[in-house]
Amino acid sequence: MLKTDKIYVAGHRGMVGSACVRALKAAGFENIVMRTHSELDLLDPAAVRSFYEAEKPDVAIIAAARVGGIGANSAANSQFLYENELIALNTVWSAAETGVKRLLFLGSTCIYPRMAPQPIPESALLTSELEKTNEGYALAKISGLKLCEFLRRERGLVYHSLMPTNLYGPGDNYDTEHGHVLPTMIRKFETARVNGNQKVTLWGSGSPLREFLHVDDLASACLFLLEMENPPDLVNVGSGREVTIRQLADMVKEATGSQAFIEWDRTKPDGTPRKLCDTRLIRKLGWAPKIDLAAGLRRTVDEYRAEVASGRVRV
Ligand code: GDP
Repeated sequence: MLKTDKIYVAGHRGMVGSACVRALKAAGFENIVMRTHSELDLLDPAAVRSFYEAEKPDVAIIAAARVGGIGANSAANSQFLYENELIALNTVWSAAETGVKRLLFLGSTCIYPRMAPQPIPESALLTSELEKTNEGYALAKISGLKLCEFLRRERGLVYHSLMPTNLYGPGDNYDTEHGHVLPTMIRKFETARVNGNQKVTLWGSGSPLREFLHVDDLASACLFLLEMENPPDLVNVGSGREVTIRQLADMVKEATGSQAFIEWDRTKPDGTPRKLCDTRLIRKLGWAPKIDLAAGLRRTVDEYRAEVASGRVRV
């Protein structure tokens, strides 16, 4: 990538897209193109095509998606499939048709089978059934990464994909019904601390294992891969460290300073029992994360408090 390249970041208001914009600017890339949802509807193929034709970016980072936690996904698999499929197909296909030279497509490790070997290698893709709670989202992301792979093979375009593990950081969604577990826990424990509540209710059994990565580490991995001449088609990006949901709850409780007692609501789903990605490939290429979970949590709690104080918190 050249410092003068025009870079389109799709989804620049989201947690991932905004982290990519911060990382690009910090690395000296100034020519960044962004469109809000109201300026460009990524579900509309003609609008996406005209946007690319008018702007002619050199590089595209596709970080736009409808995302949500286990509650949102399992209640609306159809919506997650429909919107994410259209976003993926429109943004990738029109990029190829209008001469975008380089494209990075972001997915999620939920594209891998529910019972994939752990840690999950990139080669586990499409080897068995998906996890039902987020099947719609996963299918759409699989379409997007396959489209990149086909275009690379058929047209020689360096379009490639990255699958991040569970992410957290500034700009996350703190909605307790629809958000992911980590921001939801921050909100629940922080609310309990502020209101002096005795009890915080969390979902499931607490025994599933999850891996977490700070979104600034993810953004550094995006730039790292975009700087490579010949990156792999598909690369996992994770911290390589997993915790049980129960351990995460203890860490979040400590980071917020809450004294609340934790109750587990077992009527809520656990989701996939374990989701650790195999990060040997990206590590072998020379990238490693820098922000460990305890430090990242403290930072995120501080940022959450600042967001609440300024009325900017996303719920
Ligand atoms: P997943 O990683 O795709 O399963 O999605 P989530 O981040 O939403 O959930 C991860 C795990 O955290 C699941 O096992 C949930 O049951 C558990 N969990 C515990 N408490 C909560 C909560 O308050 N909200 C959410 N979303 N998940 C929770």
